[in-house]
Amino acid sequence: MQTELTNIVGENNFILNPGSQDKRLIDHRGYFHGKASSIVFPQTTEQLSQLVMYCYENDLSLVPQGGNTGYGGGATPDQTGNQILVCLEKMNSIIEVDKVNFTMTVEAGVILATIQQAAEQSNMFFPLSLGAEGSCQIGGNISTNAGGLSVLKYGNTRDLVLGLEVVLPDGRVLNDLNKLRKNNTGYNLTQLFAGAEGSLGIITKAVLKTFPLPTQRCCLMLAFANIEQLYQFYSLSRQQSADCINSFEYISSASLSLVNHGPVDASFPLNNDYSHYALVEFSCSSNLFELEPVVEKILELAFEQQIIIDGVMAQSESQRKSMWRFREAIPETERLLGGSIKHDISLPISKISEFLNAIEIRLKQVTENFYTSVYGHIGDGNLHFNLLHSKESNATKFKQQFEQKLSTIIYELTKELGGSFSAEHGIGQLKLRQLQQYKDPMALMTMNAIKTAIDPKNTMNPGKLINN
Ligand SMILES: Cc1cc2nc3c(=O)[nH]c(=O)nc-3n(C[C@H](O)[C@H](O)[C@H](O)COP(=O)(O)OP(=O)(O)OC[C@H]3O[C@@H](n4cnc5c(N)ncnc54)[C@H](O)[C@@H]3O)c2cc1C
Repeated sequence: MQTELTNIVGENNFILNPGSQDKRLIDHRGYFHGKASSIVFPQTTEQLSQLVMYCYENDLSLVPQGGNTGYGGGATPDQTGNQILVCLEKMNSIIEVDKVNFTMTVEAGVILATIQQAAEQSNMFFPLSLGAEGSCQIGGNISTNAGGLSVLKYGNTRDLVLGLEVVLPDGRVLNDLNKLRKNNTGYNLTQLFAGAEGSLGIITKAVLKTFPLPTQRCCLMLAFANIEQLYQFYSLSRQQSADCINSFEYISSASLSLVNHGPVDASFPLNNDYSHYALVEFSCSSNLFELEPVVEKILELAFEQQIIIDGVMAQSESQRKSMWRFREAIPETERLLGGSIKHDISLPISKISEFLNAIEIRLKQVTENFYTSVYGHIGDGNLHFNLLHSKESNATKFKQQFEQKLSTIIYELTKELGGSFSAEHGIGQLKLRQLQQYKDPMALMTMNAIKTAIDPKNTMNPGKLINN
């Protein structure tokens, strides 16, 4: 294979028989350890196309990898040692910034933070934002249809993509790299590859939507007596701010207490006595009106109507950062305390209260040996409902003993209430069983039919998303 790889990508662009400790062979959370016959770093679509064609002809399977920050193990090869890991990091150019069209055309290996910065340099805004933005790549974001902190206003990644170039499983190149906002010519192929987790082809280029750069931001930390009030504030503030909210993040008293007693240094601007908190950020790009007085008026109305019981507005950029720092400290604290049994669920917003009221009672029928950390992008109906071992027990043992039982209870109730067991982290190889269990059978059949039609030899990221 050395000769073929040298001919296709050049001698400096692959590693043969990588050692098992190579970090690219282990997923971000350390759940999956894979092996690969080689790791290849193509530099152009043409090289990648030739590589995939070679694999197709020789029945070799491939695993695409971006920044390797995904939560489902989708970018980790299997244990056979026969798969080829394809890393996109050398395909990292920003091809074009089109200020008139409000688009950017980029290669798939560009780091998300680089895209944000390039947009800003052109006085535009690329709104996808998440904790891994300094290392995840746009190809990985599109393939996992990542959500993040601004979904409320701008949508998930798939809503930010206009066109794609993709190397198909037989090596041919699909060019759907259009900049059009209207293109009513049949199936939307670009959307088929968004969220496909590399199971249908390797994304090589993308046309992304950009937006006017926000020039004003107002950030609040608020306390609520119950979830119903939290959603009253959500409606009020969306209505009265002319939908200027870009983030509406939930912090439960359990997550607050976890951070306050944990190893991460983060300060919270409100008193700790309440049950529910929200970090709410408003933004707008206009300089023709002032956002802050509007937000102050909304706060006034909310206090008058007794929707909020406490609240503070960031008075400086450093206070705003400190509020966000607290929100980001929650998953960091969980990790430093030995990890949690994570659940990334979504529910119709109207059902969240019912879920939260019922779930702990059901879980406690299995064990009382846990405590919760509940936070998330609640404006999108997305909760991270995580379970930690109680202090006297061991995190690994707790997961081994209880993960399956507790997670099943959470996913069953989520399903009963019309929700999804995977809101934004996808399937990968971690949630294959749940996909079979909770997805509509006809939807599964259609997904299988699409996979078989596009990848008849099942050489493109086999065993991920769809277990053919
Ligand atoms: C600290 C942290 C915070 C996070 N926060 C969020 C969050 O708020 N919201 C959220 O949705 N997610 C979040 N995530 C997970 C997030 O989805 C991923 O981090 C990111 O989108 C994956 O990008 P990546 O480049 O790392 O992809 P990888 O992990 O490398 O790959 C992910 C999947 O995409 C496939 N893939 C990668 N590149 C390509 C390509 N070019 N073509 C085809 N397939 C490809 C892989 O095969 C794999 O199946 C977070 C992760 C971390 C570590």
